[in-house]
Amino acid sequence: MIETDRPEALLTRLHLTAIRDQLDSLLDEAARAQMTLREALLFLAEREVARRDTRRIQMGMKFARFPCVRTLEGFDFEAQPSIEPGQVRDLATGRWIGHGQVLLLLGPPGVGKTHLAIALGREAVERGYSVLFSSAAALMAGLTKAHAEGRLEEKLLQLSKPKLLIVDELGYLPLEPAAAHLFFQLVSRRYERSSLLVTSNRPVGEWGQVFGDAVAATAILDRLLHHSQVLTIRGDSYRLRRPRSRPRNDQPTGSIPDVVRGSVLRVA
Ligand code: ADP
Ligand code: MG
Repeated sequence: MIETDRPEALLTRLHLTAIRDQLDSLLDEAARAQMTLREALLFLAEREVARRDTRRIQMGMKFARFPCVRTLEGFDFEAQPSIEPGQVRDLATGRWIGHGQVLLLLGPPGVGKTHLAIALGREAVERGYSVLFSSAAALMAGLTKAHAEGRLEEKLLQLSKPKLLIVDELGYLPLEPAAAHLFFQLVSRRYERSSLLVTSNRPVGEWGQVFGDAVAATAILDRLLHHSQVLTIRGDSYRLRRPRSRPRNDQPTGSIPDVVRGSVLRVA
């Protein structure tokens, strides 16, 4: 008898590992439920697909390198009336990513730009899109380093692969003089092929200053804004308005945000 006569061996060859690993219990369950052969086949196939989806999502989340977990369920839309929940729900479907469009999330610090960027990134992973998250500072540093080491082409290729590239916090830190040109090359590579989500605390009118080069900024914006949605979030930082339910001794004492929060609340 050849080894492949054992169902486990055949299932291994077919890469049906979820069915293989739980074969006895799945067959018992199908028998208990008195499934027809067709129903049992469907039941087994569904288990295999469910395991693959779980694995794919786990891998995708790891690959994306999100700095923390933020979800749409965890986003308080009532606290943020300048955002239309319907528009965010629509963005969560990922259709814009399928079309290689650009999403700009603009607004002052603390209004939830990074939260929404991560949450939309997670939704995209769950829908099967490859995602990579990077702070603008790390992205620019990576491009500058690759350029200096003669590996720019390789780096651009690597950054062109994910279907959605999230560039967080453009404009917080001044960019190196060469960064505008390098970022332009990245944007051009991805243009109309794959999506970009950029968050910034600076309105696009100030991007000339952000990049330190008005011509490069115009060229970058020309591509970014061509097929884009711009979500401008207004209001105060969520950190300052959120009522604190944690016990006092749970908070870092004397940190600057606490001091700011205290003074703002007293004024309000
Ligand atoms: P930004 O990127 O705009 O500076 P963040 O997304 O980092 O702001 O938000 C600051 C903190 O406040 C984060 O911990 C974030 O999860 C939280 N936050 C901001 N807005 C909301 C909101 N509407 N609902 C829930 N949490 C929020
Ligand atoms: Mg942020």
